[in-house]
Parts: sequence; structure tokens; C-alpha cells
Amino acid sequence: MSVLETNIARATDYMAKFRQRGVMNHINGESLPALSGQTFESISPVDLSVLAQVARGAEADIDAAVAAAKAAFPVWSKMPGAERRKILIKVAEAIEARAEEIAFTECMDTGQALRFMSKAAIRGAANFRFFADQAPGAEDGQSLRTPTQMNVTSRRPIGPVGVITPWNTPFMLSTWKIAPALASGCTVVHKPAEFSPMTAKLLVEIAESAGLPKGVLNVVNGFGEDAGRRLTEHPDIKAIAFVGESRTGSLIMAQGAKTLKRVHFELGGKNPVIVFEDADLDRAVDAATFMIYSLNGERCTSSSRLLVQESIYDRFTARVAEVAKRIKVGHPLDLETVVGPLIHPEHEAKVLSYFDKAREEGATIAAGGTKVGDKGCYVAPTLFTKATNDMAVAQEEIFGPVLTAIPFRDDEDALRLANDVQYGLAAYLWTNDLNRAMWMTDNLEAGMMWVNSENIRHLPTPFGGVKASGIGRDGGDWSFDFYMETVNVSFPR
Ligand code: NAD
Repeated sequence: MSVLETNIARATDYMAKFRQRGVMNHINGESLPALSGQTFESISPVDLSVLAQVARGAEADIDAAVAAAKAAFPVWSKMPGAERRKILIKVAEAIEARAEEIAFTECMDTGQALRFMSKAAIRGAANFRFFADQAPGAEDGQSLRTPTQMNVTSRRPIGPVGVITPWNTPFMLSTWKIAPALASGCTVVHKPAEFSPMTAKLLVEIAESAGLPKGVLNVVNGFGEDAGRRLTEHPDIKAIAFVGESRTGSLIMAQGAKTLKRVHFELGGKNPVIVFEDADLDRAVDAATFMIYSLNGERCTSSSRLLVQESIYDRFTARVAEVAKRIKVGHPLDLETVVGPLIHPEHEAKVLSYFDKAREEGATIAAGGTKVGDKGCYVAPTLFTKATNDMAVAQEEIFGPVLTAIPFRDDEDALRLANDVQYGLAAYLWTNDLNRAMWMTDNLEAGMMWVNSENIRHLPTPFGGVKASGIGRDGGDWSFDFYMETVNVSFPR
């Protein structure tokens, strides 16, 4: 048996329970079908076979999950942070113990390559550890004395919260939201993405097996327009942490308005990687290609716009095209694979439509631009050159392994092009000129910038975007600020 065949057999074993019983909702510690009895199919991006039937939760299921989260809140929120920490560390350990199962399931459910997903499970555990360690001090505030008053400021968990996640790296992203919510003392109703529901169910089962009390974390599968909408409108849900498309963020803001929902949005991106002629070009080629062709390009912080100084544009883009053509596209469980199948035929059709748009708009396809094979959702790593910033391929989030390269003249021109887009999540800058780096990073419209580096995440730093890329920040203490209310008590003196 080849390594790939062994991996497929292992993944098939891991997913047997989902094939046999379906992906159920998880409410108050119980695996439940949707109250309506309805299901929908989860499809393998590898060959479009049906992986499992998924409970199609809707209003009644959300109501039951919110009731469970509300009932669990008084106990969980009053538990000392040090106790919550112990449980959440056990959750991290339990995730590590089942890392292979999580990674294999995630690969088959999303099409993401194993070489990246094996790290995603471990990063999920790291998220739990990091936020668990802050649980004991989460309520701490400050005291401020005046001649007439003593003020005591502290924080308390906001209440049951809703977490709504996308399909691209669902396990890691869910832990990134759920771990700080739980560490803060909130209880959670999670609505995972309909395209990749499996690892959310694994997470809640793992968490409960590690000692998380029933009702503290609940999962309702289903579609945005019914389950998602009800969660955002529910009066007992005090805040919504949402990761997904910018236009869905607008809908959620409107849906949550009536109940004055606190919202935290991590939305789309069209992130520039800006390469100046004085940069270390070998490293810049590696980083630019890694940031768009890893994780299938289905990554909010992918460097999907390559802005290159005119003097090196042809040379640099030729090197990127060479790398793109060499990238292995294949089965997600093949250890050599870098680009696996895109999540779903609908998303594949969207990505393929940009190949036609690029041609119509007059860009050159320097690499890729085609579907790969006739089974599954595989597309070739693609590079568009001779593009201009007004083209759809330069403005719209494609969310695939597709890079658009645009030349620029000088610093002002690079900055103008970088900022001339609705999004502002991340930016990557390659230059050895410190003054230029300072001027550019002072003026770039992005929530996160990396100078002479690909995206390396450090959990205590803030994560989030400006403009249409988001509202609020995650990471460090920023996550706790979102999931907690700050209150002040004044005493006379
Ligand atoms: P999406 O917005 O279509 O769906 C995300 C989630 O929202 C799903 O669970 C969906 O069911 C739910 N939803 C849809 N409509 C809803 C509604 N009206 N009310 C409540 N919930 C609703 O996004 P997607 O296609 O799953 O994911 C891709 C997007 O996610 C991309 O735009 C990507 O950039 C973004 N993303 C952002 C980050 C970040 O950190 N900024 C990270 C990952 C992905």
C-alpha cells in the first residue's frame, strides 16, 4: 500500500461514524438530529462523493442550543478562572491526542493539504492553551483613586455568545474564537459552515470528553439564512463572533441590530504583497508564492495581489510563474500535495470564472488558468500578469490559488495601488530600505503588516482588518475585551 492509500484508508476509518450516523447537532451534551428531521449532504471536494448527511438545524434547534447555553452560563461564568483554565488545558491535551484524526477529517472535508492541516490541529490546541492561561486574570481590572472616590474597574463575561465560522480552515478558526469565549466565562452556540461541518462536531466531543460541562459549548449545523440568521437575532445571545465574507458581515450587522448585538467581524481580504527592487528577491519569491498557493489560496490573509516595481517586474513574475507551474496539485492526503481540491463545485465555478474575466479584461495568464483533471474541484495555481488595478481580478476576493501581478513605479504609486481596494486585512512589504518601510507601513490601509516576512502569527498580537475586512481585533487581551463587559464601581472616600 502506498502512503496515500494508507492515509485514505485511515481517513475513511476516522470518518466512518459520520458516514453511518451523519454529522449531528450537539446540544446540552447530546448528539441530536435536527428537530425537523431534515439533513443536507456534505460532499467530498476530492471526487464529489457524499461524505455524510448533516443535520439541517434551523430556528428550533438554535433556540434549544441557546437555552442550553443560557442554562450553563451561571455555573460556567462563576467558576473561578483557575478552574476554567484546568479544563481548557485538558481540552488542549485532548486535541493533541486526536490531532491525526482532526487533520485527516479536515483534509477530506475541506480539500486542504495534509502538510498544512496537520499543523492546524496543533495550532487549535495552542489556541486553547494560550487563552486558558489568561482565564485566571480575565476579570482583573484596575483601581483609580481620586480625593473623593475609589473606583474599581473589572470585567465579567458578557453572556452566551454565537460563533459563526467559514469553511476554509474550520478547526483552527473555530478554536481561535471558541477558546477565548470559554476562557472568558461565556457559553457558546457554534454554527459551523455548511461546506465543512465535521471537525466542529469533533471539537465539542473532544472538549466534553476532557471535562467541559454540558451546555457550555453547543453546535448547530445548518445554513446561514435560517440557523445562522436565528442565532444572530436571538435575544439571549449577547455577542456574535463571525468569520466569513464581507457581505455576510453586513447581513449579520443588520440582523443583530434589533437586539443590539455586539459584533466582531473577520472578513475578506485582497492583500497586497509589495516588492521593491532593493528587496531580497529570493526570499520575496518564496514568501509571495507561499502566501497565495498554500492552503489552496483559500485563506483570508493570502497575498492575492502582487505589486512589483517596474524595473524587476518581468524578472520577478517569471520566477513566480516558474514556482506556480512546479507546485504539486493533488489529493489532500498525499504528503507531496501543496494545492488540494477547492472546497466545493460552487466555489470552484467562482474561481474558474475569474480565468475568463482575466482574459476578457486583457490580463496575461502566465501560469495555470485551467481546471486540473476531470474529477473533483482541482484548479491549477495561477498567475495573471500585465494586470491593472481596476480589473476584477485585482479588486475582488477570488479565494483560490490565484495571484494577480501589477507593476508600480515608485513608493507613492505602490501605496496608491495597495490602498485602492475595498479591503484592508493584511499587507506584506519587501524592501531593505528602513525609511521606505516606515513610510509605507505608516500609510498602508491594513490591520496587519509584515515587513520582509510571510504571515507568521504570534498569538499575543492583535489580528483583524480595517475597511471591509473587519471590525474588532482578536488575540492577546483583545479577545477578552470582546467576550467581556467592563464595569466600574465607585465608592466615596
Ligand atoms: P460566508 O460569509 O459565506 O459564510 C460564513 C458563515 O456565515 C457560514 O457558517 C454561513 O453559513 C454563515 N452565514 C451565511 N449567511 C448568514 C446569515 N445571513 N446570517 C448568519 N450567518 C450566515 O463565508 P465563507 O464562504 O464560508 O468563507 C469564506 C470567507 O471567509 C472569505 O471571504 C474569507 O476571506 C473569509 N475569512 C476571513 C478570515 C479573517 O480572519 N478575516 C478568516 C477566514 C476566512
